[in-house]
Amino acid sequence: MKYQRNKFQIRVLKRLEADLPPTRWQQLILHLQTMVRQLRRKRFSTLWFHGKGIVRLVWKPFTICRLADVPVQFHVTWFIYPAGFLVWLLFDYDRPWKLYFALLILLVICISLLAHEFAHVLMARRFGIATRRVIIIPPGAVAELESALDSPNEFWIALAGPLASLLLTGIFRAGFHAFASWHKSWEFIWLYHWMRAWEFGFNLNLILAGFNLLPCFPMDGGRILRSLLAVVIGRFFPRHAGQSFVIATRIAVRFVAWPVALGMMVCVILESHDWIYLILFPLLLFVAEIEYRMRCENDGPSSDTKR
Ligand SMILES: [Zn+2]
Repeated sequence: MKYQRNKFQIRVLKRLEADLPPTRWQQLILHLQTMVRQLRRKRFSTLWFHGKGIVRLVWKPFTICRLADVPVQFHVTWFIYPAGFLVWLLFDYDRPWKLYFALLILLVICISLLAHEFAHVLMARRFGIATRRVIIIPPGAVAELESALDSPNEFWIALAGPLASLLLTGIFRAGFHAFASWHKSWEFIWLYHWMRAWEFGFNLNLILAGFNLLPCFPMDGGRILRSLLAVVIGRFFPRHAGQSFVIATRIAVRFVAWPVALGMMVCVILESHDWIYLILFPLLLFVAEIEYRMRCENDGPSSDTKR
């Protein structure tokens, strides 16, 4: 019997003939097909290899679109949020409207995160710094700039994000009031959900702006503080001007971010019980320490070595 190739296999073969690797989706399907075939034949020798391949392919962020010539990518772990919504829906009676509301909320979250990050991106572009990508990854989103920042451009780039979030709070607040007054006169249920979504947008952007302005490196507030410190050190301690950025980073990380993060964690334990922050703040400190170490290496001998 002659072996018949299906359309998918022909497409993969064509790419291989043209010296192109299979696309990511094709690689995923190939791994899955092989796994299924092996399970059917009860042969488990390379199951682990294909499983790892699938995890590796899924773990790499997916590009969803390009905005202002910057690729916007999406990390699979972000699905925690929609998954959370779905679990919430399972335990609810008013499902269709809750689903509608959940989709509105997801839209508001995406708009808010992208507006914040693209404020950073566009401000960086004004200083001639390109952006590699914007990646949506829990707990929010990150804009990856091409080069490390220096004061004073870091000040303006870091400030742009929270300012955009504050601007959005105003817009969402105005929208909420508009929908609230329309809802008063018509009382449509879809209008009610729009009103709630705009109210959520207001609260979300207020939190985004407020949380990002915490002087806790690597949040925007910490970066604003560092760039200001670097300017002060450069002006008043000219002897250390060459290393003002390393010294400023050390102060922002060791003497501000650590106490602020530990203080916030104590507050969480004693007062708010939002346990997610007990993961978030140590993570922030970890990133802060990494960036401090990188600064020390990039700027040559650390400021400890006096000559
Ligand atoms: Zn930001």
